[in-house]
Amino acid sequence: MQYYSLGKQSPNVDFKTAAITGQAPDKGLYFPTTIPQFTFEQIERFKTLDKASLAFEVMKPYVGGTIDDASLQQICAETIHFDFPLVPITETISSLELFHGPTLAFKDVGARFMSRCLGYFSKKAAAENGSAANTKPSTVLVATSGDTGGAVANGFLGVDGVQVIILYPKGKVSPIQELQLTTCGQNITALEVEGSFDDCQAIVKDAFMDAALNAAYNLTSANSINVARWLPQQLYYFFAWQQWVANNGDAIPMNIVVPSGNFGNICAGMMAKASGLPLGHFVAACNANNVVTRYLQTEKYEIHKAVATVSNAMDVGNPSNFVRILEIMQNNFEQLKNSLSSYSYDDIVTESTIERIYKANHYTLDPHGAVAFLAAEEFGKQFGKPAIILETAHPVKFPEVVERAIGETIAIPTSVQFLLDKEKVAIPMGASFGSFKNWMLSIAAEQ
Ligand SMILES: *Cc1c(COP(=O)(O)O)cnc(C)c1O
Repeated sequence: MQYYSLGKQSPNVDFKTAAITGQAPDKGLYFPTTIPQFTFEQIERFKTLDKASLAFEVMKPYVGGTIDDASLQQICAETIHFDFPLVPITETISSLELFHGPTLAFKDVGARFMSRCLGYFSKKAAAENGSAANTKPSTVLVATSGDTGGAVANGFLGVDGVQVIILYPKGKVSPIQELQLTTCGQNITALEVEGSFDDCQAIVKDAFMDAALNAAYNLTSANSINVARWLPQQLYYFFAWQQWVANNGDAIPMNIVVPSGNFGNICAGMMAKASGLPLGHFVAACNANNVVTRYLQTEKYEIHKAVATVSNAMDVGNPSNFVRILEIMQNNFEQLKNSLSSYSYDDIVTESTIERIYKANHYTLDPHGAVAFLAAEEFGKQFGKPAIILETAHPVKFPEVVERAIGETIAIPTSVQFLLDKEKVAIPMGASFGSFKNWMLSIAAEQ
């Protein structure tokens, strides 16, 4: 299996190179040269296969021999080592709960898979060079509005040969999110930036372009454009479908509503479908950042500066992964419209939906799930069909909004209560690339 750049100006590479470099030299996103096709017999077998074996079979073609089978089996088993339950909310809408991982967000799956792949490649390089001392460690730089940082920190914690530097905006992530970012220690460093998420992202972008930093470090990004983070997200569509078929048989298609920001998650689902998994229609649920919603109406792709909303993990003005969706759809607008719909909602209706569903159905949605729920209702009204929504984060990660909406405090899940006893450790950082660069170079000099 090879990957080509959607920029079309760079050579093809294997999975290993795509995972280590993230983006192609021409700044294009990598895309597999052929989408693996599962046969009817394989799909039948997938209905009842255990999760770890299913994960291995789905990922194996994409990894294309760059990781040996036994190691890939272990990576897959560790990646999906938690539950992905499909829980009914109403008669026609169910929630695929993707928040049972260590940081209570769906990003755990991609981050765990990617970290273990990089760890594997780094170990192999060290063995080939005779000693780890000759191999410059990978330094993962990541800007976060909350969820990505926690998942990446947790996923990479203790992975040899990889150090992680996380930039987060001071005062703009929730208390649980901040603890997840700042209490890991070991190979994880958190920088508390005196600015916005956009400032953090701008610093990371500048870092990748900076000659001195690239000479001192082996820089890698851990955002969803990396194939090792993007592709394993297909797995929970397989797990959802297993449960759907067990409950409903395979005559009723499973339509899927995905709360979308950078469009990596929904794009992975569309890949799963393109590889033969019999999924129904896709719906991208968006907040006020609705470039794609408008594109599907007008065929005009107009990017804008992200606006802040209560579903802040979807505050993206120019979704990076949308080009991959266009590629899956062979850049055919009609084909795209037949496979994908999109609806967009403001904060007011998002918040009132959290309250309404809590009262009527005793289900607590997080703000992202609430946007998805609204889209599922609208899709149901328009087409008279059932749908599942992807609940991408636990409501406790957005306590301010959710507690205001439901009028109660949310219990902190036992799995993260240990965080409350930990001490936050973060390095204060000005919101300028200059201060970041000076700090990075002073650290490199010490090492
Ligand atoms: C990252 C994130 C999203 C958006 O996912 P994309 O793959 O960027 O579309 C939605 N909800 C939550 C909670 C997230 O953390």
